[in-house]
Amino acid sequence: MCKNYNLKDKIQKEGKVIGSDIIKVDSFLNHCIDVSLFDGMGQELSEIFKEDKVDKILTVEASGIAVACAAARYMGYPDVVFAKKALPSTMTGEFYGSEAKSFTKGTTSVFRVAKEFINTGENVLIIDDFLANGAAANALADIVEQAGAVVSGIGIAIEKGFQGGRKSLEARGYKVRALATIEKIEDGKIIFK
Ligand code: 5GP
Repeated sequence: MCKNYNLKDKIQKEGKVIGSDIIKVDSFLNHCIDVSLFDGMGQELSEIFKEDKVDKILTVEASGIAVACAAARYMGYPDVVFAKKALPSTMTGEFYGSEAKSFTKGTTSVFRVAKEFINTGENVLIIDDFLANGAAANALADIVEQAGAVVSGIGIAIEKGFQGGRKSLEARGYKVRALATIEKIEDGKIIFK
């Protein structure tokens, strides 16, 4: 593992609790990216999923992309595909789509992936920055299933274990792993599992 890799430490030092259940980690993950830390995250994700077949990684814009690319570097460079949350004029062909309600914005959007980028029978690892209620990861899993591909597993950087995301994904039979799981937030303090 690379030197000084300690995601939990970084969350404790730089994470800010907003309200009762949102964690702001803009200083290293959601706005500014600590590339060295991401390198360690990618390495750890590749360790976690080393026994699983991975032909491709699927994530969603924006912050998931950097986590997915960090993992891909250590997993033999599978392609990273990211779902788009708004329909761009360039998406002219057919696409797979699934709706997800944004945890932080409260709005609902359709995650879209052009059909040409996920093939039937492929093993697809889903990666995202946060797991809360599981809407984003479930929408990505829907897209994999629509394509007739296989979900290799779900890799998350920061899981909020007190929300229902993991349960909903495990109920679908998926392997869910997180690099840091927050058990609770108490008096504004982040407590890890
Ligand atoms: P879910 O769909 O599992 O409810 O929420 C996961 C998605 O919402 C992630 O893609 C992430 O962008 C965002 N998210 C959920 N909780 C948090 C949080 O506490 N902090 C930040 N920065 N993003 C979050």
